[in-house]
Amino acid sequence: MKQVLSVTSEVYPLIKTGGLADVAGALPLTLESHGIRTKTLIPGYPAVLSAISKPKSVLHFDDLLGTPATVLEANHAGLELLILDAPSYFQRPGGPYLDHTGRDYSDNGKRFAALSLAAARIATGALDHWKPDVLHAHDWQAALSSVYLKYLTDKPIPSVLTIHNIAFQGQYSPAILAELGLPSSAFDVDTLEYYGDVSFLKGGLQTATAITTVSPSYAEEIRTAYFGMGLEGVITHRANALSGIVNGIDPETWDPATDKHIASNFSATKLKGRALNKRALERHFKINEDDSPLFCVVSRLTWQKGIDLLIENIDNLVGMGGKLVVLGAGDVALEGALIHAAARHPGRVGVSIGYDEALSHLMQAGSDAIVIPSRFEPCGLTQLYALRYGCIPVVTRTGGLNDTVIDANHAAISAKVATGVQFSQISVEGLRIALNRTLSLYSTPDQWQSMQKQGMKSDVSWNKSAGLYAALYNQIESKGI
Ligand code: ADP
Repeated sequence: MKQVLSVTSEVYPLIKTGGLADVAGALPLTLESHGIRTKTLIPGYPAVLSAISKPKSVLHFDDLLGTPATVLEANHAGLELLILDAPSYFQRPGGPYLDHTGRDYSDNGKRFAALSLAAARIATGALDHWKPDVLHAHDWQAALSSVYLKYLTDKPIPSVLTIHNIAFQGQYSPAILAELGLPSSAFDVDTLEYYGDVSFLKGGLQTATAITTVSPSYAEEIRTAYFGMGLEGVITHRANALSGIVNGIDPETWDPATDKHIASNFSATKLKGRALNKRALERHFKINEDDSPLFCVVSRLTWQKGIDLLIENIDNLVGMGGKLVVLGAGDVALEGALIHAAARHPGRVGVSIGYDEALSHLMQAGSDAIVIPSRFEPCGLTQLYALRYGCIPVVTRTGGLNDTVIDANHAAISAKVATGVQFSQISVEGLRIALNRTLSLYSTPDQWQSMQKQGMKSDVSWNKSAGLYAALYNQIESKGI
């Protein structure tokens, strides 16, 4: 079996702020049936250390970028974990990246450089009992792994860097260089230097053997200035090493037939059970219990997610007979505007500010449609859960949303392959037209049900994509890139 070291700053079910955790938590489970064994290196946050049992100490650093650290090994939820226990970096009361007031920790660069350095040491054989064949780093937090690898050894193992969102790059002033334990030669245009600053993601993009991102459409999009966010030149330069592999979902955690978080289990052949979830969701949000179409949003509340476009559409949506429930947290201004909208439309709009894993399942099971008006979306997971739960996704035609939803145009409807509604014009007006199209589809129950069933048949599991990752690991190991 091929051995892979996955390096990530979050992993479901231990610590999650977004889709990265879901991917890092689910991919290893499916990779096993493709002949790949994964050990996942994550920081020892309090939530991680308190959840694991019987950790074994397998490696000690007297000085890992200025602090003592230990690598613990433990199994949890089917995952083989390596936990970087560096208390001064990771044992803090806030979240993984932000303190309890919502501000970035001032030493995030050093914290995740330490994670990457530990990964590179493991990749060069620091553990007595295990050595990986391939290193797989996720996002900027792990991107320095392949940079360290380049300087630690003449014969580095091959590496993959996956970009889950190129908007987050880990950019710091050059002053950080002195703290990273890298030679000054790493501060050059071919490695870390980025318009006079240090960019962790750029360093990873320049040094990883292969680069992936989380959908084929996003892999194309990030070659352009709008989506590449300053790194389009580097992406284009490394285009031969880049591929897009769409995310899957964990079909056990997200199965409407067995889901414990929902009011009534159901399946494509027993769709009737869905209605009880709609009632339960309406009760939860204290909105009218009736058959008018219920839209939902489960999202970070940010500009990327187009939440401002949704807010501008709420009055129209309600005017057209729709209802809306929102679960999310993020920008204070967007949160406030949503709360205002709920106050304006009692019985029609409900808003829950916060993060609630269990409620997010009921939202998918009980809503008729989910609105995802993202300005860019590397892959997106909520539309995949929606497909599996018979909740119609209404999405912008971008990134992974483009690759996973089939628009209900005339041809797709008559061929019975439509699974959702897509729109290209990312604006208030574009979303308004898409919502009106959705309402009109809803008014034809046969058509609606056919879309639900078609979506529920879509293969949103990891199986195919895990096969693509396995093939990539095999390919870079045998040939290099
Ligand atoms: P991103 O990673 O950009 O935030 P994704 O769609 O890829 O977006 O993944 C978001 C993940 O986080 C999904 O699993 C979604 O269900 C979950 N999520 C987002 N906001 C909330 C929330 N407020 N409560 C519970 N789960 C949430």
